Amino acid sequence: MAKYSDPVCRLCRRENDKLFLKGDRCYSNKCAMARRKNAPGMQQGRRRKESEYGRQLRAKQKTKRFYGVLEDQFRLTYARAEKMPGITGENLLQLLERRLDNIVYRLGFAESRPMARQLVNHGHFLVNGKRLDIPSATLNEGDVITIREGSKKIAPFVDLEASTMVPKWLEMDVNHLTGKVLSLPAREEVDLNVEETLIVELYSK
Ligand code: SF4
Repeated sequence: MAKYSDPVCRLCRRENDKLFLKGDRCYSNKCAMARRKNAPGMQQGRRRKESEYGRQLRAKQKTKRFYGVLEDQFRLTYARAEKMPGITGENLLQLLERRLDNIVYRLGFAESRPMARQLVNHGHFLVNGKRLDIPSATLNEGDVITIREGSKKIAPFVDLEASTMVPKWLEMDVNHLTGKVLSLPAREEVDLNVEETLIVELYSK
């Protein structure tokens, strides 16, 4: 499981973008990005002009941190993306979106990806009727996610309200606590503000 010892808001400030790691707080005026946008340890307005390598590195770091994936697993995902037909950078983002922990978050079962990862690790979800507790598991079109019967009465799921942010490639039935992968996400359906070609350039060196 991805772990960081620093307060996670520092990661957003470092990437100069919201990574949505703290649930409701990210949408409130308590968000650190709303108060202090400068990178940790850097004075206001003193951001240096980045080199090409710096831009490539930042694109990779930002993507890793957005999805909460550590370096080794990110590399493995990239290697899978390279072998798939199509555009490697887009394949990479699609594979990251199709992770079980990300889909649990996107469906609104969890307030943040870190929370989704923890809920998956604790075995609260079934995929196509079978328990699946691997956050990095890749879901496919048609897969159905439900909450384990014994978990339906625990805090995150009792009185769960329908999320207004479920993307079009997913479907959520909040009454039955069920989600479905309707299709694989296209690049324009991934709301990560990153130039994925920079990651490809970085790994192609
Ligand atoms: Fe990032 Fe959320 Fe912290 Fe804002 S509140 S800086 S979006 S983790």
